[in-house]
Amino acid sequence: MEKCIFCQIVVGEIPCEKVYEDAEVFAFLDIVPVNAGHTLVIPKKHYENIFEVPDELFGHLGVVAKKVAHAIKDGVGADGVNVAMNNGKHAGQVVFHAHIHVMPRYEGDGYQLWKGREYKEHERGEVGEKIRKQIR
Ligand code: 5GP
Ligand code: ZN
Repeated sequence: MEKCIFCQIVVGEIPCEKVYEDAEVFAFLDIVPVNAGHTLVIPKKHYENIFEVPDELFGHLGVVAKKVAHAIKDGVGADGVNVAMNNGKHAGQVVFHAHIHVMPRYEGDGYQLWKGREYKEHERGEVGEKIRKQIR
C-alpha cells in the first residue's frame, strides 16, 4: 500500500520542520499554522485516528503533546495553547494519520472556539446515560 503523507514525512521522503522525535513519536510544524509554531504530534506507525491508536501509545502521544506545549509557550512566547485532535471526516480530519495539534495562542489573535448550544429538557441525562453505558 502507498504510504500516507505523514508516513512519508516520518521517513524523510517529504521534508518537514521537525521539533521532536523518539522511538514511537514524531512532531513537526504544521505547514499552514494557526499561529507560527503550530505543531503536529503523531505516532510514527500509521494509525488512522484516535479510534485506532493503542492506549499505551496514546498516553505517550499525550505526554509528548504536553512537552511540546511547554516548548511552544517558552519558545515562541505564546500566551496559551490549544491542544486538539480531529477524528473522522465530519470532525474535520483531512489527513488520515492520527495527529494531535498543539497551537500557540495569543491575546487578541482573533481565533474563536466553537460555539456551544443548550441541552433540551431531559437530553443531558439521557445522553450522559448513553455514554456511561459505553465506557469500556
Ligand atoms: P486535520 O484537519 O487532518 O486535523 O489536519 C491536518 C493538518 O496537516 C493541517 O493543519 C495541514 O495544514 C497539515 N498538513 C497537511 N499536509 C502537510 C504537509 O505536507 N506538511 C505539513 N507539515 N503539514 C501538513
Ligand atoms: Zn501514515
